Amino acid sequence: MEHTLTRRGFMFVLSSPSGAGKTTLSRLLMQNDDNLTMSVSYTTRAMREKEEDGIDYHFVDKENFQQKIDTKFFYEYAEVFGNSYGTPRQVVESAIDAGQDVLFDIDWQGTRRLTDKAREDIVSVFILPPSMQELERRLRTRAQDADEVIARRMDRAAQEISHWDEYDYVIINDSIDGSLQKILYILKSERLKRTRQHGLGNFVDELIH
Ligand code: 5GP
Repeated sequence: MEHTLTRRGFMFVLSSPSGAGKTTLSRLLMQNDDNLTMSVSYTTRAMREKEEDGIDYHFVDKENFQQKIDTKFFYEYAEVFGNSYGTPRQVVESAIDAGQDVLFDIDWQGTRRLTDKAREDIVSVFILPPSMQELERRLRTRAQDADEVIARRMDRAAQEISHWDEYDYVIINDSIDGSLQKILYILKSERLKRTRQHGLGNFVDELIH
């Protein structure tokens, strides 16, 4: 019989420049892992075609976002491409206490804030595109943004990538399947960390007494 011990969850952060495959990987991860919940951020950005309110983001106006800042609703928030993005605090804290891991799709600024606040509860992964040409091709194929937006995102991509060495793990995403497997290994190993397995002390006490 396999022993299942109580465990503290962690915040599993995936960051990458737009177009490096993070959204696809997040979706696949959610399908392939039962113990993961996705943190749905709030944003003031306009909704894109195919996006759903409450699923991809909670879409709110600037006033509503500011109110949430004032009432300390957010665990962290940041401005990216002129829009505001924020992570709700309550959902995250209760999931972690209940032993669930929470998946975050946030940028380097958010990752840095979360790491400063709760180092022990963070596992972070940076996803690199195989090349800048490939990144631009993916952005254009997605074709949801205007040319000038794509140019701006390519500029910002280099900036985002320059923070790669602030992450626990780095993956070059040249195959979605390969990257997914690597991320699943990371999840499995991180769950086995001694410090996350709260029940171990009791288990060992019973084992040797
Ligand atoms: P997009 O507009 O393409 O969905 O997201 C733009 C950037 O904002 C991405 O790099 C994404 O990871 C980041 N982002 C999304 N939600 C949050 C959040 O709650 N906090 C922070 N700091 N960044 C976020």
